[in-house]
Amino acid sequence: DLHSFPTRRSSDLLRKALDLKQLQLMYQPKFDAQTGVMIGVEALIRWQHPERGMIPPSRFIPLAEESGAIQAITEWVLSTACKQAKNWHETSNSAVTVAVNLSAYSLKRNKAPVMVQEALSETGLPPHLLELELTESMLIENDQHAEETLNDLKKLGISIAIDDFGTGYSSLSYLHRFPIDALKIDRSFVWNMNRSDSDLAIVVAIIAMAHSLKLKVVAEGVETDAQLASLKRNGCEIIQGYLLGKPTTPENIASNLQKKKRR
Ligand code: C2E
Ligand code: MG
Ligand code: MG
Repeated sequence: DLHSFPTRRSSDLLRKALDLKQLQLMYQPKFDAQTGVMIGVEALIRWQHPERGMIPPSRFIPLAEESGAIQAITEWVLSTACKQAKNWHETSNSAVTVAVNLSAYSLKRNKAPVMVQEALSETGLPPHLLELELTESMLIENDQHAEETLNDLKKLGISIAIDDFGTGYSSLSYLHRFPIDALKIDRSFVWNMNRSDSDLAIVVAIIAMAHSLKLKVVAEGVETDAQLASLKRNGCEIIQGYLLGKPTTPENIASNLQKKKRR
């Protein structure tokens, strides 16, 4: 098991995986709930290990954070995702956004703004096409620096979304203190919204609160038509989940964009 390796060793392993091009990004589409148009994608990292097969991020991102390899990985993710989005933008002439997940480490010591700035200038991606996804707990743990870091990031012209919203230890005051553009309703609420009145109530409340704060709402993990219908009925504007699209290769995203153009 990866966790049995000492920290030093897992750092070396992850850096080697990066050098050997064993890390790859898949892209999961996000759709406009009303029109059904694909408006963006989220970059999701995978480790294609020659012997162990596909290792999901939940298995190695925590190790990367502990060992410090996360810095190199995040730089690679940002530059790869931005390059890809720039390519889609040029070849399909459509403004599809790309979202990158940041880990807690990148927020510490104000590292994220420099990394993002470098990825943008190196690839030439228009900043409004890049979105960063951060979790509530990351913001709360780094309360001191988070506000400054987020303000620096916003100055670059990108968007910021709160991932897994509703599961962290929330202090709602940060929602208007920090320059946030969107909330992603955690998939646990979405999965139960048609089975549990209280989960439905939470989803409805998150949507209402987001709108009154002028934030967009994304529902993640949408798997059924019933979930989609309730989300639309309650005014959720962006939908992501296996029902409409699983994480896929950049080639598949490009061909979806081409089809849309021809229609
Ligand atoms: P996340 O950002 O909340 O991403 C959503 C996860 O839910 C993804 O898992 C995605 O494949 C999965 N998912 C999407 N729609 C559905 C659905 O309808 N049903 C179900 N059952 N699952 C769905 P994945 O790719 O394994 O990523 C897990 C987590 O790893 C992500 O959660 C994110 O926190 C983290 N992660 C992924 N890529 C990166 C990265 O490049 N950097 C960092 N720091 N973290 C990453
Ligand atoms: Mg995410
Ligand atoms: Mg999430």
